[in-house]
Amino acid sequence: MTAPGHGAAIGVFGGTFDPVHFGHLRTAYEMLQALRLAEVRFVPAGDPPHRAPPQVDATRRLELVRAAVADQPGFTVDDREVRRAGPSYSVLTLGELRRELPATPLCLIVGMDAFLGLPTWHRWQELLELAHVVVAPRPGWVAPADGVLGDLLAARRAASPDALHRASAGSIYIQPVTQLEISSTDLRALLAAGRDPRYLVPDAVRDVLRRTGCYSVSRPTR
Ligand code: ATP
Repeated sequence: MTAPGHGAAIGVFGGTFDPVHFGHLRTAYEMLQALRLAEVRFVPAGDPPHRAPPQVDATRRLELVRAAVADQPGFTVDDREVRRAGPSYSVLTLGELRRELPATPLCLIVGMDAFLGLPTWHRWQELLELAHVVVAPRPGWVAPADGVLGDLLAARRAASPDALHRASAGSIYIQPVTQLEISSTDLRALLAAGRDPRYLVPDAVRDVLRRTGCYSVSRPTR
């Protein structure tokens, strides 16, 4: 498959998306273009491990992601983690995708904050056997210089996106993206306070948020 970004590689963007916002979308868009990806697949977590339960149920978070990406060629939504029972481990998702797409380069997209937590992920050492890892720097989060992740970065870091197309998995690439310091945590607080999320989320997402009022009640989630 080729198109929108003209390569065959696929970006896999997992997250809780509680709710999805322009920080996620702009990052995905710049990855699509800069890495020449055929597609960025958004994979909302059904039951995200290593964090408090999401404020809003998986079906609604999925609806919001679908609304967010509907008008962007190359953006798709994969609901397998919502359909699958049990914790939404990325290693299981990537394993399934690898079986479905044996030769396609897969690029797991993570923010630097998420990358720094990688060694806590379930069976994390298998991730690079299944996919490349592409990291978006975020303000306040510094790439590891030492320790297990620093060593991994030194051994696996690719100098250019070309490496992501030459092999189906195994490289780490850091792709600078426009820094939009929007977070779902801040958005939830804003919505619970009855404020308007305009310019933080696409209008299609804002419409669902307003219609359903799904974040209008503040609950202590983390
Ligand atoms: P929360 O505030 O609830 O932790 P979040 O805004 O960080 O949520 P997640 O759904 O947890 O959103 O993030 C999914 C992925 O998107 C992670 O890899 C995270 O690093 C990345 N990400 C989140 N916000 C941004 C942003 N503003 N810019 C770039 N990447 C982001």
